[in-house]
Amino acid sequence: MTEFLEQCRAAIGAAHVLTDAADMAAHLTDWRRRFTGQAQAVLKPGTPEETAALVRLCNRFRVPLVPQGGNTGLVLGSVPDRSGAAVVVSTTRLNRIRAIDTVNNTMTVEAGCVLQTIQNAAAEAGRLFPLSLAAEGSCTIGGNLSTNAGGTGVLRYGNTRELCLGLEVVTAQGQVWSGLRGLRKDNTGYDLRDLFIGAEGTLGGVTAAVLRLFPLPKAQLTALGAMKTPDDALTLLSIAQARCGAALTGFELMSDFCLQLVGKHFPQLRLPFPEASPQYVLLELSDSESEEHANLMLESVITEALEQGVIHDAAVASSIAQSKGLWSLREHISLAQATEGKNIKHDISVPISRIGDFIRVTDGLLQQQFPGCRMVTFGHLGDGNLHYNVSPPEHQSDEAFIADQAAINQVVHDSVHRFGGSISAEHGLGTLKRDEIRQYKSDVELSLMKTIKQALDPLGLMNPGKVL
Ligand SMILES: Cc1cc2nc3c(=O)[nH]c(=O)nc-3n(C[C@H](O)[C@H](O)[C@H](O)COP(=O)(O)OP(=O)(O)OC[C@H]3O[C@@H](n4cnc5c(N)ncnc54)[C@H](O)[C@@H]3O)c2cc1C
Repeated sequence: MTEFLEQCRAAIGAAHVLTDAADMAAHLTDWRRRFTGQAQAVLKPGTPEETAALVRLCNRFRVPLVPQGGNTGLVLGSVPDRSGAAVVVSTTRLNRIRAIDTVNNTMTVEAGCVLQTIQNAAAEAGRLFPLSLAAEGSCTIGGNLSTNAGGTGVLRYGNTRELCLGLEVVTAQGQVWSGLRGLRKDNTGYDLRDLFIGAEGTLGGVTAAVLRLFPLPKAQLTALGAMKTPDDALTLLSIAQARCGAALTGFELMSDFCLQLVGKHFPQLRLPFPEASPQYVLLELSDSESEEHANLMLESVITEALEQGVIHDAAVASSIAQSKGLWSLREHISLAQATEGKNIKHDISVPISRIGDFIRVTDGLLQQQFPGCRMVTFGHLGDGNLHYNVSPPEHQSDEAFIADQAAINQVVHDSVHRFGGSISAEHGLGTLKRDEIRQYKSDVELSLMKTIKQALDPLGLMNPGKVL
């Protein structure tokens, strides 16, 4: 046993220092099983002070550390490299809800709390914590903050950054910074909280946070509209925003091909329309007054959209089961695409007003260079964020298709850049997009990022090789 590990055991208890290959395995491979790294150990501190003690040991022995929450990240940010030099610091034992304040509308939680546990605790206190994503049963709030996760509620409530009022952080030197302030106004110098949010564990370790809570909606309505083009969907967005304001909480675009794949692989999930349309929008309203009020708003949106010829059909869910049915169509697209075969995913954003042009132009470029490739385009249109995924032409082998991955990424990401967009809207950079981002950020921006990293983590021990 090395002296470093011996001291880790002394700091947090031998039971929480995992070195056995079988015990460590789940922490070393990423969610999609694309990469397996190696580590000296997986460390599971139970308090911020224990976390700080481990970071100080890492400093003393020059051991790199990889913070890890639920390990559901999609850009290889939460797993170590293959050198075996690093330790994984898992937050699973930092899982207490420290306080809920229903007057301040905040809750203070530790970084390892699973997102679903936080949503449930908020609901039990009669409040809404609106962050929601498909990994919510496994991902942790520390991971959500460190990746500035998006999800389905961004249109109304913002990204995780907007849901956080304060942080407690263990610095790269092993000090505890308590910034758990719970203030909506605090202009007292540089916003350190915002530096750590979205830093993917490269500047320090988040150990706790103060989160914003909201009133629980009185009614939630879901509708599906059928239209010809993404531009029609944008007009529908303007109508819905004008008529519903903050009550519009979801606006998801799905192309016909997405739903053809869902119908093919999940035949029990059916479109509520007799005929197919090129595009669909799933629209959700959350109303703080009543179901009747929500119905009136939705009706007015659909009537105006039909009158203007923006949509040619609409279905409103009249029960929770029907609403779930409509959301199921959206939620099964990724699975249907995976069942169909290999695909190349892009998590991109462009200014909302340019989405129609982006899809038209980029679809054209891809067809020119990779004739027959099939576009699986869907996503959070209301946030300007698309899952712009490419499936191979019908008779091309997966191997031949994947050989073109770098070229396809280049076409898509160059186009995103020309449209003033981002090549990673939700998931971060990790190691997967670390090198590619250099093509799209200016030297000034990259140099500012490096300066911050150097200032906060001069030894380069915090999640090395990620982001920069
Ligand atoms: C099925 C599925 C659906 C998803 N849907 C979405 C979606 O809609 N929107 C979206 O944004 N993401 C989505 N994701 C990606 C992922 O769930 C999010 O990135 C999530 O926020 C990661 O949380 P985690 O606890 O699993 O973090 P991890 O995967 O463990 O870590 C992610 C990054 O954060 C760092 N980190 C983790 N905890 C800490 C901490 N306490 N302090 C400092 N750094 C830390 C890690 O080092 C790593 O760089 C999805 C993933 C899956 C598998």
